[in-house]
Amino acid sequence: MANIYSSKNIVLFLVASPILNLLFIINLYASGNWNLSWTFQAATEAEAVAAISCSGHGRAYLDGLVLDGKEPLCECNSCYAGSDCSVFIPGCAANADGGNPLFLEPFWVQHAASSALLIAGWHRMSYTFNDHTFISQELERLIRKLHAVVGNAVTDKRFIVFGAGSTQVISAAVHALSPDNASSPARVLASIPYYPLYKIQTELFESVNFKFQGDTSQWKNSSDTGANMIEFVTSPNNPDGQLNKAVLHGPHAKAIYDRAYYWPHFTPIPAPADEDVMIFTLSKLTGHAGSRFGWAVIKDESVFDRMIKHIGVNSIGVSRDSQLRALKLLKVVLEGEGREIFEFGHQTMKIRWENLVKGLSSSNRFSLQKIEPQYCTFFHKVRESSPAYAWLKCEREEEKDCYAVLKAANVIGHEGGVFGAEDRYLRLSMIGSQDDFDLLIDRLTKLVSEEAGARIM
Ligand code: PMP
Repeated sequence: MANIYSSKNIVLFLVASPILNLLFIINLYASGNWNLSWTFQAATEAEAVAAISCSGHGRAYLDGLVLDGKEPLCECNSCYAGSDCSVFIPGCAANADGGNPLFLEPFWVQHAASSALLIAGWHRMSYTFNDHTFISQELERLIRKLHAVVGNAVTDKRFIVFGAGSTQVISAAVHALSPDNASSPARVLASIPYYPLYKIQTELFESVNFKFQGDTSQWKNSSDTGANMIEFVTSPNNPDGQLNKAVLHGPHAKAIYDRAYYWPHFTPIPAPADEDVMIFTLSKLTGHAGSRFGWAVIKDESVFDRMIKHIGVNSIGVSRDSQLRALKLLKVVLEGEGREIFEFGHQTMKIRWENLVKGLSSSNRFSLQKIEPQYCTFFHKVRESSPAYAWLKCEREEEKDCYAVLKAANVIGHEGGVFGAEDRYLRLSMIGSQDDFDLLIDRLTKLVSEEAGARIM
């Protein structure tokens, strides 16, 4: 690795730091904020770290690794290396695995000033807020306002519960919907292809009250009508982006609607969701997956009470620091009625999707999911979906392991089998950094051009 403490870099740092400080002081003075006292040092540190150049292919963080007490090191995007992330690693695999929502990072860089947060050393040290809950009323108010502005969920006369990401909210919902004293455990079900966490988490936390039982369709015509069923409905779905609806109905069927992707970045919003249990997450709304903040909108008070109890016993609620961060971010989201972030998110995802469709258009070997356009009440027009993931199918009879096919072309996706589907399918993330996406398109284009070459011969 190149030495970042080379004499050239040290000189640059020594020269740059006083200049940065001076610029900061001039800025404070000009903006009339000269009377800052204890925030000055923290603000200076934050600006200094933000100014570290990682060549646009990485980022330095305040809590990043520090060598010899110097400034934090650059953390490079995949396939980039070097002290300032300027070195591209040629044979490196395109990373289309995982669900890191870095596509929104440029938006937050553009909104650095309005989204920055300074946390006092004494910020909310108690276990609870003054009203003895672990839910910020102000944040709850903003969440209701956000749903009203976007028009993606009904929140009137509903309860809202917070969790450490929607991951925690999901486990609380399964607990809350399963009966306490039934003779057999509730069947927890999901339609293939489904987000794998439902299975993994339900199996890990399995109790006498609930058990994961696989694909919903198997139980659709079940004559055993007395059994309690909890159906996960992911809408839009991870991995294929479809606006799914519950398959099971009747007095013993309950649904958990996972609405993680029901935001204008990814999908038309045909109408406000109005289900009994709806789950949302900051991770796919603002892109702050690392802040671990999710929430559920709940119709029934007894379900809400059981979820609160679960999250209380499990973690005494969500970190107050995360709630403060979510509050700050949502204020930015709500500026101009959400126009800016959703225009940015939608545009970015739309361009990516169009590039992918174009890149694969001449292929007979690979196909993508098709999602019907719909009228979007947020953008006031009929629009195409711009999904968070591509659900790629390897069409050749002999290519049953699509992961292996793409891996050979230096692309890493997520195997279809993990979603309960055939391994002929592969999920490719569309929500990563621009670097990840550009490399993905590059590799796929090459793969498809080889196919065309082979056809011509
Ligand atoms: N639900 C769905 C459908 C998801 O795709 C994800 C994240 N990939 C989650 C829930 C969990 O998100 P988080 O815990 O970050 O809120």
